[in-house]
Amino acid sequence: MKYDVTVIGSGPGGYVAAIRCAQLGLKTAIIERYPVLGGTCLNVGCIPSKALLDSSEHYHNAKHKFEVHGIGVTGLKVNMPQMIKRKGEVVEANTKGIEFLMKKNKIDVFTGHGSFLTANKISIAKADGTKEEIETDKTIIATGSKPIVPEAFNYDKKRVITSTEALNIDFVPKRMVIIGGGVIGLELGSVYARLGTEIEVVEYMDRIIPTMDGDCSKELQRVLKALGFKFHLGHKVNTVKASKTGVTVEVQKRDSEETFSLKADYCLVAIGRRPYTDNLGLENVGIQKDERGRIAVDKHLQTNVPGIYAIGDVIQGAMLAHKAEEEGVFVAETIVGQQPHVDYNLIPGVVYTWPEVAAVGQTEEQLKAAGVPYKVGKFPMKALGRSRASTDTEGMVKILAHKETDEILGVHIVGARAADLIAEAVALMEFRASAEDCARMSHAHPTYAEAMKEAALGATANRAIHI
Ligand code: FAD
Ligand code: NAD
Repeated sequence: MKYDVTVIGSGPGGYVAAIRCAQLGLKTAIIERYPVLGGTCLNVGCIPSKALLDSSEHYHNAKHKFEVHGIGVTGLKVNMPQMIKRKGEVVEANTKGIEFLMKKNKIDVFTGHGSFLTANKISIAKADGTKEEIETDKTIIATGSKPIVPEAFNYDKKRVITSTEALNIDFVPKRMVIIGGGVIGLELGSVYARLGTEIEVVEYMDRIIPTMDGDCSKELQRVLKALGFKFHLGHKVNTVKASKTGVTVEVQKRDSEETFSLKADYCLVAIGRRPYTDNLGLENVGIQKDERGRIAVDKHLQTNVPGIYAIGDVIQGAMLAHKAEEEGVFVAETIVGQQPHVDYNLIPGVVYTWPEVAAVGQTEEQLKAAGVPYKVGKFPMKALGRSRASTDTEGMVKILAHKETDEILGVHIVGARAADLIAEAVALMEFRASAEDCARMSHAHPTYAEAMKEAALGATANRAIHI
């Protein structure tokens, strides 16, 4: 069999690349080592984690927020097996959707582990031990990433777990230690904290979500503390030991000899992910990696071997599903000679805690470090009628604009529906809008989006109306 393009990996990078290739008239194959399509995102990432976040949020609201709305609930309890079952159904509906899209676009799906034999020949190792070979003109590597787990943490998948296993615990643990105060730690920590688990987070840096704007870290930490999270910032974990029933986590204060141990039912390791290129046969074709083990690509996302491209988590940049998708479209269009573009500064980032955190563009710390003159407009959610009506009064919108030109350089939101609100900021910044452009746009009342307008008014001329 000979294809114009073969995509290795069916996550959001791979399946979107395959669809765009097929739309552009290329005979396309996709290889996936698991029997289900959709990659990390659909199977053990974005979708299942959001399903559990939504379920646990319903429980939390029923327990803590309904009363103030005048709704009494008796006999409230968590049915964890049902919660996990529903999550599984959500995943299945999504992965079936990708199967349908592959058929609709006449993309041939091969199930098995793909590896390069030559630049134009790929071997597919199947679960039954047999092998198949296909020929291809071009290849897109979209093999994604896996969790990083140092050996000293003794990852046993039972008590010392990663996000993959944390999505399948079918009872509410009493205590969980989470290593890493980044996106996974705080999202999955929120799921279990809402259900009643005592959560302790050990984070190496001095603040949680350390790559996001400092004001977002501060606001989120305050809210999560109120939810019951305990934080050990500026600490690292030396070892984790598991027994049949629990874990002991040895923690050390960073830059000091001071140590202590934490005991819990589970230890969730969430300290980042590594690019996944195991047994891909890169050495057979001489594909180069960078210093962090990612496949090295040029500005066209082409590797050092002509005709072989790479996208998504396996290359440099943010490990986000929508970044992988943009790159999938970019490569497909590049292959047919178009000149597409991805603006990496405008890939938004979201943390699906409640309130959510969402951001796009530059943080205040980055602008300071780069010496860019800027002004700040901030508006607290608690000053909005919409927030008071729903009791979602936590958070703020922060807009950073250029001091002289007024161009919006960064938007940072903590608040209800921040994940959806950030789309306005992306659109504004794509069109290089000024803060005044946003301030002069009518925003429906009452909405959370009014906080965008108010923050923009604040940035424009310190003339927010409602504070
Ligand atoms: P992946 O989705 O990892 O897919 C790669 C695929 O390639 C896999 O199916 C793998 O089996 C397959 N593969 C690998 N090697 C081979 C081979 N040799 N042969 C055949 N197949 C192979 N991102 C967001 O934007 N929003 C979120 O809310 C979000 N939540 C997340 C929650 C969790 C718990 C996790 C772990 C991640 C989350 N992410 C989120 C990140 C997101 O899942 C990844 O950025 C995204 O899946 C990357 O897409 P990808 O296509 O590059 O790789
Ligand atoms: P992360 O990079 O978001 O956070 C890891 C955290 O662990 C960082 O704060 C880091 O300082 C800390 N850390 C690193 N080593 C440590 C150590 N030895 N001891 C203590 N702390 C340590 O990584 P993650 O949370 O594992 O998520 C992995 C990837 O998945 C991220 O790149 C993220 O983009 C993606 N993801 C995205 C979403 C989303 O978009 N909502 C959700 C989940 C995951």
